[in-house]
Amino acid sequence: MTVKLRENMAKEEEYDKLPDKDAAKEFYAKYEPKEILGRGISSTVRRCIEKETGIEYAAKIIDLSNDDSSVDATRQEINILRVVAGHPYIIELQDIFESSTFMFLVFELCKHGELFDYLTSVVTLSEKKTRYIMRQVFEGVQHIHSRGVVHRDLKPENILLDDNLNVKITDFGFARKLEGSELLHDLCGTPGYLAPETLKTNMFEDAPGYSYEVDIWACGVIMYTLLVGCPPFWHRKQMVMLRNIMEGKYSFSSPEWADISESPKDLIRKLLVVDPKQRITIDEALRHEFFQSVIPTIGLEETINAVKLHTSGFDARRKFKMAILFVRAMVRIQRLRFTPEPLSLEAARCDPYRIKLLRKIVDGCAFRVYGHWVKKGEGQNRAALFENSPKTDLKHIYLANLSL
Ligand code: ADP
Ligand code: MG
Repeated sequence: MTVKLRENMAKEEEYDKLPDKDAAKEFYAKYEPKEILGRGISSTVRRCIEKETGIEYAAKIIDLSNDDSSVDATRQEINILRVVAGHPYIIELQDIFESSTFMFLVFELCKHGELFDYLTSVVTLSEKKTRYIMRQVFEGVQHIHSRGVVHRDLKPENILLDDNLNVKITDFGFARKLEGSELLHDLCGTPGYLAPETLKTNMFEDAPGYSYEVDIWACGVIMYTLLVGCPPFWHRKQMVMLRNIMEGKYSFSSPEWADISESPKDLIRKLLVVDPKQRITIDEALRHEFFQSVIPTIGLEETINAVKLHTSGFDARRKFKMAILFVRAMVRIQRLRFTPEPLSLEAARCDPYRIKLLRKIVDGCAFRVYGHWVKKGEGQNRAALFENSPKTDLKHIYLANLSL
């Protein structure tokens, strides 16, 4: 089957294999299924081992008995997977088995699972890690778009991490191949990641439709979420959240943003632009200074050379002493960057959440205790865990009760 798949890929034919009752048997003869790695609406993904080689894979087992449309949907997903194949940041489809009741898609295994779970385990990502992940996500999306495909469901649940914590974009269930300048109109994706133009297309008759730019918007939502742990447009009432999206209403006002530098904020501002025509392109995003910046480190050798230059008129002994003092000073200055801010007892008592160190501890504890509440899909419960201001409606009821 693998050979057949590869031959088909070479021929660039559409995948339209007819139902084959023995396919399930064929799958079980070749692979040994193990534990469940994840679940979708009509699919279960299991780790499996190829019996002959002992190599591990992930098998997406799709139950076709519930829904007639899932056969076409899965075939469409397979076709798209073939179109976007052959990139280091895109999941690789290894094997396909199709019976009348089940489809088995065998993928390379991503041992570190979803970016979503990784984020939940660490609460937030540093700028450096965000840069590492987002560069790969942008490069992966750039490749998908270059093949004329729009993903439409980019989110941390659909970004997997391999053994080396490298990105693999997966789940092309909503992806579409676009013909020329074709525009799309259907509402699909995950609420918190939907682009304003997707929502507008479904609300206003004269809205033009949407295209590749929806993936760029989703990248903005992902990048924001990675840096501070909660999504940008979240609101307990979903209608308000959707309105916030359409108006591009989000802010960098939560305490976490105080410690984040200007360049990621600038990139997010350019990604989360309501008008898709004004939104930054992927090429521009990859050229943005956020991806160019390297932490400045002054090498010891360069420092000594600089000292040599400045002290060329002194005697050797003095020169050496000066060099040592200069290097010591430079090392101290460099270390300052990593020195935690001084703790004020007063601030710690009145507003502990303002202090980065305590905030990390508070969020870490909240995630350890309530992490299982974090629901996949909308990131809503995730945001609730970050809420540290009293809910005004509850406060209102509380005050009303007090006055009784
Ligand atoms: P669905 O279309 O049903 O959402 P996905 O393709 O997104 O299915 O897979 C569901 C989940 O299964 C993923 O979110 C992930 O947790 C897990 N999963 C999928 N593919 C792999 C893989 N190749 N390696 C490891 N885990 C995977
Ligand atoms: Mg998925």
